Amino acid sequence: MVNAGSSQLLFDPTLGRRLGEHWNVFITHAHSDHTYGFATSARKHSTPETLHIYESLSKRTVKNDKTVKIGESIRFDDIEIRVLDAGHMLGSCQFQLIAPEFTAIYTGDINCANTLTTNAAQTEHCDFLIIEATYGHPSYVFPPREMIYADIIRWTMTEINEDRLPTFQVYSSGKPQDIVRLFNVYTKIPVVCAPVISRANHAHNENGLRLEYVDASTPDGRHTLKERGCVYVTTARGDHLPRNASRAVATGWALREAFRSYTAFPLSSHADYNQLMQFITAVNPKVVYIFTGYIEVLSAQIERKLGIRAGPLPVHAQTKLLDFPRSAN
Ligand SMILES: [Zn+2]
Repeated sequence: MVNAGSSQLLFDPTLGRRLGEHWNVFITHAHSDHTYGFATSARKHSTPETLHIYESLSKRTVKNDKTVKIGESIRFDDIEIRVLDAGHMLGSCQFQLIAPEFTAIYTGDINCANTLTTNAAQTEHCDFLIIEATYGHPSYVFPPREMIYADIIRWTMTEINEDRLPTFQVYSSGKPQDIVRLFNVYTKIPVVCAPVISRANHAHNENGLRLEYVDASTPDGRHTLKERGCVYVTTARGDHLPRNASRAVATGWALREAFRSYTAFPLSSHADYNQLMQFITAVNPKVVYIFTGYIEVLSAQIERKLGIRAGPLPVHAQTKLLDFPRSAN
């Protein structure tokens, strides 16, 4: 939480907080663990892509919202808030606060590698960096993305040749669109998507991406699934999978964890350990606050290897002011 004159600013607030109209919430991206702010009465700030994907998935219309594009900024009293690309999914952003006494960046979730649907996270200098560390452990260094893409295509071809239905079970937004795009760009294999993923696909297409897919609930989708020779992208629950489905997951955890009865590909939407360290080096903050993931491990690495003060984001940061210079009283 940050004070800006008479305004109170809150970034990716979590479930359980009552937020009236006088609050200003900032939402970094459309994944459900970051979008609680959309369901409150607060004034909402997000990119247009994030708002559109959220509304498509939730089937709600958000009120009291104000969109701001990546590269643009808004001002609250003497604080300018710039919107930077986070590279995590379409529309995902970081918020950079530029105040007279300090600069700070809240990253949300970031990815520092280009994908087929996003560009790598932007780096800007700041005094205080608030960052995620989902894969902030030295054992999480992902192979080059192109290698993972090649593995996915090879596995898919094998499954199709053996008359099985290669099926990816993923979240509804972000990763599935990268997978659809992968098959669109590198193959001619038809892609069938579960309805919820189709809704997110549609929102992506409305925002400038070109995803070619058929919805599983349409006659065309049902026919394509029956004909075989296609790939199916569905949710983690994977309801009503055909008998010949062979199941795969795409997640960074696949690097070190076994997924029983699934083929697992380490395709991630998050920065790995090396990317996080390079990102922090480029941003060159005075202090790093980490809010999720391998907090202790990454803090120790940052302090030892980069000589920058690092530690967990204080638990009170959601309800009280962070110890930025203006909040010292
Ligand atoms: Zn996310």
